[in-house]
Amino acid sequence: MARRKFVCGNWKMHRTRAEGRELVRALAPLVADAGDRVQIAIAPPFTALEAAAQALASPTGARIELAAQDCHWEPQGAFTGEVSPAMLADAGCVHCVVGHSERRQFFGETDEGVRKKAAALLKAGVLPIVCVGETLQEREAGRTLDVVSRQVRGALQGLAAADVALLTLAYEPVWAIGTGKTATTAQAQEVHAAIRKLLRELAGDAADRVRIQYGGSVKPDNAAELMAQPDVDGALVGGASLKAADFSQIVKGALR
Ligand code: PEP
Repeated sequence: MARRKFVCGNWKMHRTRAEGRELVRALAPLVADAGDRVQIAIAPPFTALEAAAQALASPTGARIELAAQDCHWEPQGAFTGEVSPAMLADAGCVHCVVGHSERRQFFGETDEGVRKKAAALLKAGVLPIVCVGETLQEREAGRTLDVVSRQVRGALQGLAAADVALLTLAYEPVWAIGTGKTATTAQAQEVHAAIRKLLRELAGDAADRVRIQYGGSVKPDNAAELMAQPDVDGALVGGASLKAADFSQIVKGALR
């Protein structure tokens, strides 16, 4: 089944409102031609969401969607510092990243938290991008597929197949994030195919509709080759998404 490629830029904790607007204005014309063939999103920090949404609302920005980088699972309440899925929908977010390895590593994100966030996002009409991936130690111990399977099973637990079909998964080997080391195309395809097989066990034919992005030092010079793999349906891009020229080249890599 042909899946439309999906490229999302994760700005992490970078860019003020003015800088965000500027980045959107620089990016929009560069990807204007690709927007009907590739799904494109950007995930600015919470504080720049509204400014980015405004810049995207201009005629040239229309084909880039807005994503958030995290959320809480409750709709509202006494959770200081947190933002709910409904608030993200209200801010114009179409997608939200959950389970990013930096959240797992530095902020105690668990598989159970990822599951609750994914379910809450779907309920609020925001599409989750669920990140999974092994550390270098886990890869060297031959545990990559075990770790990734545990994370995928954890995130999907209790979801109906129709909801699973709405998810995007991002396979992001932790050792490749922000390090300049990229998984080889064979390493990426091996894990993506294993994830697809597991999705089929868990959710039947919905597996064919789930996009599985690769993330981890994706750059203009490696993006096309990675996304040419049969089970690599796009990219989650960190550092290179902060440069309009680089990000637009990556988006174009999805067209080849
Ligand atoms: C990410 O943050 O999801 C990521 C893949 O970062 P980078 O592209 O910088 O490795």
